[in-house]
Amino acid sequence: MKYPTPLQQLIASLKLLPGVGSKTAERFAFQLLTWPDHALADFASTLAELKTKIHTCPACHCLIEKESCEWCDTTRRDPSLLCIISSPKDAYAIEETHTYKGLYHVLGGLLSPLDGRSAERLDFPKLTHRISRLEIREVIVALDSTLEGDATALYLKEQIGQLGICVSRLALGLPMGSPLEYVDGGTLSRAFTGRQSF
Ligand SMILES: [Zn+2]
Repeated sequence: MKYPTPLQQLIASLKLLPGVGSKTAERFAFQLLTWPDHALADFASTLAELKTKIHTCPACHCLIEKESCEWCDTTRRDPSLLCIISSPKDAYAIEETHTYKGLYHVLGGLLSPLDGRSAERLDFPKLTHRISRLEIREVIVALDSTLEGDATALYLKEQIGQLGICVSRLALGLPMGSPLEYVDGGTLSRAFTGRQSF
């Protein structure tokens, strides 16, 4: 006997989440079936509104809820520093360390020649254009300590170095092979303070 179609569809959607396999997706789906109607309706509207209420800043690509971008507000943030991250989530982790008050730029991915993610797809010209437009003194590359992160960092160093701007990278204490989002706040904070030109 197969599960009813709506349940199969729910399970298929849940399986798209990272770390969720068939068994877990089935458990989640059956758990959702036990929720009261109002809780399910709230959950459904939260999901439906996710992309209409949250936007991406066209300049820095961080997440915003209003027209203006707080991440790009140079009256409150140091416009001479630019931190390059791969995902908007990383900005929140860095903010929690309270060690950085500059601007951000979300690349939206890392270079990965094997997966066909080349420099063109990451839109580096837009980044270099933004760097030349702002009065950036130092670019801090805060990418994962992985092969893809390293390849992207080297590429950025080459490109941004040509503009005559100091490029530094978080290094101290960051475990090899570790995505930035899994690094604890204390380690990330030390990595920021101990960043090195490379
Ligand atoms: Zn912005």
